[in-house]
Amino acid sequence: MDARYKNRFRYHRLHQLFLKAENIPILEDILSTEGARLQRLRDQKHSDLLRFGKIPKEEELIDILRLVKKRVDAMLDLNQVRPCKIRYWNLLDLTNNPISIGKKHQELSSVAWYSSNMITIKPTALEHLVPIIAHEYTHHIQYEIFGDIHGESWKAFKEGHARALVRHFSNAIARDECSEEYCYKMQNRTVNTLLEAYRHLCSTNGHTASRALLSIPTEKQIIPLLGRTIDKAIGLGLFLIIEQDKGQEMYRDMLQGTFEFPKWM
Ligand SMILES: [Zn+2]
Repeated sequence: MDARYKNRFRYHRLHQLFLKAENIPILEDILSTEGARLQRLRDQKHSDLLRFGKIPKEEELIDILRLVKKRVDAMLDLNQVRPCKIRYWNLLDLTNNPISIGKKHQELSSVAWYSSNMITIKPTALEHLVPIIAHEYTHHIQYEIFGDIHGESWKAFKEGHARALVRHFSNAIARDECSEEYCYKMQNRTVNTLLEAYRHLCSTNGHTASRALLSIPTEKQIIPLLGRTIDKAIGLGLFLIIEQDKGQEMYRDMLQGTFEFPKWM
């Protein structure tokens, strides 16, 4: 990928674009729509209308990844992505591996991660597993296209891109399988992340955040003690704002090297 193109997402550019006061009402609209959807899913869950299946066996993971890959590749119009590997994480990994405390903490607090062509994931029901695999597989594609990239703005790009894409992925699977279970965790995560972005956007601009939005009920996620989560939140917040203009094709364009930020930004 061309270095000039990559620089569009670098050097705090995404943070600057997101932290503008004009984004406050747009993000408030998005949050209220996403919050209402989460509320519907929570009501269904409390009425026992959402049924989660079994935890797949480790040997089944590769077939699940194959199906996920096919769908994500199609969404992004990619047909030559090298496959990656997948495995379950287990507690023995921590005791057997001479890794740093920070890395151990990251492994304990994350549900999955991608590193060196391998997705490592914690066992969970199929309906939660599929979107998580799609998310980590998207990181694999980003790595294949952009290489190993670092920095706060890149973190915002990578996480915003993966999370926003997986929203569409999960919604499409839920529609095809007539199973909203695929969206439940994803929707909680989306709203939690957008709330973090919204608080930050309001405080940066000295704006009083809406109490109604801040009190949207969610299933709280474990916040890692180490590492910044705000970069990731900024990525998702910014991309959902841009998506209102550009549509979901923007996630494909970003990887194809043809993405342009909207003129008004
Ligand atoms: Zn991620």
